Amino acid sequence: MDIVLATRNKKKIYEIRKILSEEMAGEDMFNIFTPDDFPQCMEVEEDGKTFEANAVKKAVYISECTGMTAIADDSGLEVDALNGAPGVFSARYAGENADDMANCEKLLQEMKNVSYDKRAARFVCCIAMAVKGEVKTFNGYVEGRIGTELRGKTGFGYDPLFYPEGHDRTFAEMSNDEKNSMSHRGRALRELQKHIKEKGISQS
Ligand code: IMP
Repeated sequence: MDIVLATRNKKKIYEIRKILSEEMAGEDMFNIFTPDDFPQCMEVEEDGKTFEANAVKKAVYISECTGMTAIADDSGLEVDALNGAPGVFSARYAGENADDMANCEKLLQEMKNVSYDKRAARFVCCIAMAVKGEVKTFNGYVEGRIGTELRGKTGFGYDPLFYPEGHDRTFAEMSNDEKNSMSHRGRALRELQKHIKEKGISQS
């Protein structure tokens, strides 16, 4: 089954590939392409107000541009003490071209006076699958809390600051497989995989 992932984020591509290939072991395997395989496709502006709106926009555009089934991930971090910020702005919290470190530092700064019991947060992921003009979405989230310093080296984004509920290690202190087993992305992709196993690539 040929699919194109509607993202250029290499860390996300790595996680999605890993989760899908494990989930589909023994079944028809995916042949995964990325927008780099289709230079005619442009960047999609992520101007939606929700993860779902952005995921749908990316999947529909890449599917139309390539003529293939497209899968898009839009995700981010919602922090209760910051009224849900950075939310859909997670990738550019510290500015338009901010890197992961700058975003983490800004988050630490915003949270510097927030006590331990008020540091609840969640990662949210919306996966959209678009094929022949139709689109379906799958959601996943993971509850946790924000740490007071960066810990760990694996993963990406806010992983060094995120302690999933019930754990005393951040996502960045876990192996990829351990993170994927409980992450927002892992959960949303397992819903997608269940749908494909039951109904095939069709949307209904
Ligand atoms: P998107 O490309 O607009 O979906 O940006 C998602 C942003 O949310 C990333 O750049 C990260 O800052 C953050 N994010 C999403 N998923 C994760 C994750 O699994 N770990 C850490 N940060 C994440």
